Amino acid sequence: MLSTMQDVPLTVTRILVHGTLVHGRSRVTTWTGDAEPQRRTFREVGVRAVQLANGLRDGLGVVEGDRVATLMWNNCEHMEAYLAIPSMGAVLHTLNLRLPADQLTWIVNHAADRVLLVNGSLLPLLAPLLPRMEPLEHIVVVGPGDRALLDGCRPAVHDYEELLAGRPARYDWPELDERAAAAMCYTSGTTGDPKGVVYSHRSIYLHSMQVGSAESMGLTDHDTSLPVVPMFHVNAWGLPHAAFMSGVNLLMPDRFLQPGPLAEMIESERPTHAAAVPTIWQGLLAELTAKPRDVSSLSRVTIGGSACPPSLMKAFDEQLGVRLCHAWGMTETSPLGTVALPPGGLESEAEEWAYRVTQGRFPASVEPRLIGPDGSEMPWDGESAGELEVRGPWIAGAYYGGAGAEPLRPEDKFSPDGWLRTGDVGVISPDGFLTLTDRAKDVIKSGGEWISSVELENVLMSHPDVAEAAVVAVPDERWGERPLATVVLLEGTSTGYQELRDFLAERIAHWQVPERWAVVPAVPKTSVGKFDKKVIRKSYADGELDVTRL
Ligand code: AMP
Repeated sequence: MLSTMQDVPLTVTRILVHGTLVHGRSRVTTWTGDAEPQRRTFREVGVRAVQLANGLRDGLGVVEGDRVATLMWNNCEHMEAYLAIPSMGAVLHTLNLRLPADQLTWIVNHAADRVLLVNGSLLPLLAPLLPRMEPLEHIVVVGPGDRALLDGCRPAVHDYEELLAGRPARYDWPELDERAAAAMCYTSGTTGDPKGVVYSHRSIYLHSMQVGSAESMGLTDHDTSLPVVPMFHVNAWGLPHAAFMSGVNLLMPDRFLQPGPLAEMIESERPTHAAAVPTIWQGLLAELTAKPRDVSSLSRVTIGGSACPPSLMKAFDEQLGVRLCHAWGMTETSPLGTVALPPGGLESEAEEWAYRVTQGRFPASVEPRLIGPDGSEMPWDGESAGELEVRGPWIAGAYYGGAGAEPLRPEDKFSPDGWLRTGDVGVISPDGFLTLTDRAKDVIKSGGEWISSVELENVLMSHPDVAEAAVVAVPDERWGERPLATVVLLEGTSTGYQELRDFLAERIAHWQVPERWAVVPAVPKTSVGKFDKKVIRKSYADGELDVTRL
């Protein structure tokens, strides 16, 4: 028997119209450095998004299904693109401006982007790549920049404001299939070619509802959210669309992502929520310790993208009174997977902490299972480790195969019954909280036992003299693999290896304590700010690290 409910498609268009009309007074504020921030209401943003859609269709000939790429910072114009491009039936393709040139070029060609919106400040990065970006027909420059860099380039060059100027504030939005492509984002591609994840209108709509909900980020129009996490990396964790859906004010950092400007914009614009990877919060903590600023407006901060060391959470709690809330996700999961809000009914702070340091709990729409080393499903007992697999309405079931090609379902990424293999290894507690112990490829297999590199890093980073620590597996004649600890010491400290070793030995099983140690100036990071362990493994293999053996 069928229901008697209406079957209305869940689309980004609906988010755009709703936000413009119902939350018209909410604001997008973009930080501009020294000048007064740029401020626009959602009503203005909505109207400009309509003008952009008109400009793209009538000025540049964009039709349904065309890929329109963005190479932009987090700012209001990027928000306008987020709303306009999917609503007109085209596909928003966010480009990660930190990727190596070859990958960026490959991605534009693979997605066959016809139009590219680019911030003027990024023209020096884009211009040399243009001759190899063959499908591009139009470049739209947003904001100031050295436009002479584009002289003589093949695609036609336009100015963003000129493209919008005088366009109608009406657009007859097409009736879209909610399963149609709305946006796409390529994974950072540490091995092989980058892989394109294509989000649907439906997945974005449902994901937006979850992002805003109280069991995730809990955001309303009383909040101002600061997405430090880039709009070119998994849609800034879904915040732009979620914000327009619920009227959440946005504070956009644009290109001012260093700790100093971030502290300044928090102090003066007083956001209540922010979202970023742990390295950003590490930097901000150091900045605020050196030069205190008022960040008391932040009642919640979402932290994820890589494991948040518990010591960082404690420091934010104790020194700044700011609560970091741990979350897990990935490009393939839109990205919201888990959020670590402690359950109700707890009686002590210690119990709360036990939950806060996990990666968090799954919402109903993300169904997890753990697959053990022998391929069988592991119990949720908080002890049995396995690779995490997930499925749900905003989880990728395949990668983009290229124009006209079949979607890709590599075996190492999708199980035969269609679940996403996350490549993350961990345990799940009986009440559904996930604790990750490693990436499958980073786990250290020592004499038949697994050592969690994340656990060693967390203990090391709780040492008062350690700024950052990354632990990787290196080959060992006797044990197969052993951990190598690379450590960044805080400025002005000179803690010795023996002391760090003893510090670890007091806190973890003795056979897990590394014998190999190296102090490094910085931990290498990927294009999205995560520890790049393959670079560390390679420098070790190439003999470039000054390793001390204890
Ligand atoms: P990306 O697709 O680039 O966003 O990377 C996703 C990967 O980041 C996940 O598969 C995890 O390995 C890692 N990750 C994300 N959030 C967390 C977290 N809270 N703790 C540990 N690892 C995380």
